[in-house]
Amino acid sequence: MIAENIEAIRARIKAAAERVGRDPHSVRLVAVSKHQSLEAIREAMAAGQTVFGENYLQEAEDKVAALGQGLAWHCIGHLQSNKARLAAEIFTCIETIDRLKLAKALEGRLSELGKTMPVLVQVNVGGEAQKAGVAPQEAGRLCRELQQFPHLALQGLMTMPPLVENPEESRSSFRQLRLLGEELAVQGLFGPGSVELSMGMSADFEVAIEEGATLVRVGTALFGERD
Ligand SMILES: *Cc1c(COP(=O)(O)O)cnc(C)c1O
Repeated sequence: MIAENIEAIRARIKAAAERVGRDPHSVRLVAVSKHQSLEAIREAMAAGQTVFGENYLQEAEDKVAALGQGLAWHCIGHLQSNKARLAAEIFTCIETIDRLKLAKALEGRLSELGKTMPVLVQVNVGGEAQKAGVAPQEAGRLCRELQQFPHLALQGLMTMPPLVENPEESRSSFRQLRLLGEELAVQGLFGPGSVELSMGMSADFEVAIEEGATLVRVGTALFGERD
């Protein structure tokens, strides 16, 4: 079941990329495995999936310990600064940097570990009070502040737009993130290579790809409903 889902999602990723003349390989699938069992994750691994997204630190710690190296683990949930030490140890990418204090805490532990962490700045494109992320107009400043941390490799931006009925309604939010990413890339804030844009989930990843997503975070369409 999971293998078939992954195959179908890959086909949809490819079709969406080709619709807008993008190379399908420029889009990576992050399998969002929060609240999914080790068995489900193993099924995804057997189907060739290597990148997973987790929201909760304790859960992620257990899964990384059980499933080990060779996989990429993206932190896609809100991180408290006092949990930064553990996050620095277990994740291979942190997509949810939204304040300087968190970046500082991560840098401290990463420098002890001698580990460089790819990171994304989370942007709250909808300006929603209940959501994490910096306001779009604050993103540039935070990206500039991150340049002082040698163990944080800033690669781009992540967003979770407001919940909508129809995925087409998220198109302008995705476009907004891409334009912001392009603007900041011109300022040299993301290092070499193209800017990473993590946007799009089960309901709207195709629209996100049409608007430039390089990472799509898909949970339920891949694993089924969460417990
Ligand atoms: C849970 C979650 C997802 C996956 O959502 P689905 O709708 O299940 O695909 C993606 N991104 C973030 C940040 C999440 O918390």
